[in-house]
Amino acid sequence: MNVGFIGLGIMGAPMASNLIQAGHSLTVYDRVAARCEALAARGARQAATPAGAAAGNDAVITMVPDTPDVEAALFGEEGAAEGLRPGAALIDMSTIAPGASMEFAARLAARGVDMLDAPVSGGEPGARLARLSIMVGGKREVFERFRCLLDVMGNNVIYAGPNGNGLKVKLVNQVAGTLSLLATVEAMRIARAAGLDERATVSAVAGGAAGSWMMSNLGPKIIEGDFAPGFSIRLHQKDLRLTMEWIRQLGLEAPGAALGYELFTKALEKGLGEQGNQGLFNLWT
Ligand code: NAD
Repeated sequence: MNVGFIGLGIMGAPMASNLIQAGHSLTVYDRVAARCEALAARGARQAATPAGAAAGNDAVITMVPDTPDVEAALFGEEGAAEGLRPGAALIDMSTIAPGASMEFAARLAARGVDMLDAPVSGGEPGARLARLSIMVGGKREVFERFRCLLDVMGNNVIYAGPNGNGLKVKLVNQVAGTLSLLATVEAMRIARAAGLDERATVSAVAGGAAGSWMMSNLGPKIIEGDFAPGFSIRLHQKDLRLTMEWIRQLGLEAPGAALGYELFTKALEKGLGEQGNQGLFNLWT
């Protein structure tokens, strides 16, 4: 397929790379032009605007940080909406507010353009190894039509229902992921304070009933003092802000998510925003 790809950061760059590898023809755009260079060297066309990334393509994928970034990429000056032809689809894989995403889908539908919200879980390793979990909202028929693109980027592609539902499943995922990360960070703090063999502790816990992706992947990074971002504290706090807004609309109490939001907000205020989310450990160091 001919695909436009907008947003070539930690996640977008390896996802776009997998699409090229699978033989799709890519046009790429990032507001930081230098982020396009590695893909251009592998045969991608480089567009100067989001509209240019969309022009003539079957689908455009967006992988940018937050709701205003998707809005700017779609409906800002020379936005992708101007370049998308009727019958084409916009696949937004960013994590943004479900309500806003549903509104974007309605605005695109008025132009004859279909939209899927298709956020992901699995982090940078999942993006690189094409092992993302992808949760998709939109018309089932549109999902089936473009599933071949999603299958190239992930190995667990799930249809979640109408527009917005992919994002709602992703926010549920973020509640579970946050509490799992809090558990890992707290366990590691206690192990360190007690002077335990940290590697042995992670191996023991990861292999038993308390094992988790967070413990297996981020536990070793905490031990090594590697706080480089796979998923930044800034973006994790953003996801919890979106989650709390949505939970409030549901009229629900969610004490675990609320604690996570409070701690990630403190980490941001402490200046840890550009660290990976395992850097939550440093809230207490
Ligand atoms: P990132 O900050 O590394 O990359 C975002 C990219 O988008 C940057 O290159 C930036 O220049 C570009 N960008 C921003 N606004 C733009 C615009 N208007 N037009 C064009 N380009 C624009 O972020 P990331 O970690 O790759 O995350 C992207 C999305 O995926 C976020 O919504 C995040 O919450 C979600 N996500 C990230 C991870 C992870 O582990 N990093 C995991 C799951 C989901």
